[in-house]
Amino acid sequence: MKIVSACLAGLKCAYDGDDRAHPRVIELIKNSQAIPVCPEQLGGLPTPRIPSERSGDKVINKEGQDNTKYFKKGAQEALRLTKLAQCDGAILKSRSPSCGYGQIYDGTFSGKLINGNGVFADLLLEEGIKIISDEEL
Ligand code: SF4
Repeated sequence: MKIVSACLAGLKCAYDGDDRAHPRVIELIKNSQAIPVCPEQLGGLPTPRIPSERSGDKVINKEGQDNTKYFKKGAQEALRLTKLAQCDGAILKSRSPSCGYGQIYDGTFSGKLINGNGVFADLLLEEGIKIISDEEL
């Protein structure tokens, strides 16, 4: 079983109220091989929402509000589901401050990328769960 970013499954949970549907992820769910989760919604953030980016140890939205506690709570809740469903891997949306793996935006909202992971991706890695991004599918 894989845990997958819910926006890749076609759920409209992205910050702009849209989805990031990926046909291979949807196929996995139809075959009961994956379950969707959106850490940002589980953390208590609304949809649509003001976009956030990681900035050092914090996660700050475009208006300067510190949303770190929501991202941390969402990551913990998403990890709880990952363990409950005994997922052995994850397929996550690239560049997200929660789900990004390998590269994320640099915190300046200028579109610049840096090496790093989202908050949920970091937590999964700490638990030894293998991640691939949607761009690697
Ligand atoms: Fe998609 Fe993850 Fe962002 Fe939710 S937190 S919208 S699942 S990338």
